[in-house]
Amino acid sequence: MAKYTDADCRLCRREGVKLFLKGDRCLSKKCAMERRPAIPGQHPNARKKPSEYLTQLREKQKVKRAYGLLEKQFHGYYIEAERMKGKTGENMLSLLERRLDNVVYRMGIATSRAAARQLVNHGHICVNAKRVTIPSYLVKVNDTISVKENKTKKAPFEAVRKSRIVMPKWLEFDTEKLSGIVKALPARDDIDLNIEEHLIVELYSK
Ligand code: SF4
Repeated sequence: MAKYTDADCRLCRREGVKLFLKGDRCLSKKCAMERRPAIPGQHPNARKKPSEYLTQLREKQKVKRAYGLLEKQFHGYYIEAERMKGKTGENMLSLLERRLDNVVYRMGIATSRAAARQLVNHGHICVNAKRVTIPSYLVKVNDTISVKENKTKKAPFEAVRKSRIVMPKWLEFDTEKLSGIVKALPARDDIDLNIEEHLIVELYSK
């Protein structure tokens, strides 16, 4: 499968926002957006006024990169969202939020979506007490997400017990039991990304 292998911080600098791709480092002074926020490349300010297309493209890239997806996979969420009732942009964000790797990240079990994906891939995460190794698995209301029982004593999970994270209101997580529940499907207000999803819809519907 194709994979992005360049530096993650470059993506934040390209989009001009923190995408929180590197866990604790993103909250420290080492963050590249704090130290060197300019767009990568030799002529970062060559284009003064972005075209309509470029604005839409950048918005799409921002979301795609925040969730760590490649184009084909990301476009698949748009197609799926278009088939659903309601606003396509909001449906698409809701689908992205429901990905199992994102839920593991939101619950604070991992410090980034990439780390969460690795936990899922390596079989550390269960949904309704069954091991699930597919990061794109879409959670449903009342699904229970937990760390696999024989893994809970591992050091990274001990750190989760001590952590205090702000939980989105559609999720609940017990840091002692390392288990949480999906209380509702995520609505637009629950998604703290500063993006204009209508620009992505405009881009794809051309
Ligand atoms: Fe982005 Fe995190 Fe790198 Fe900062 S440290 S530039 S937020 S990936």
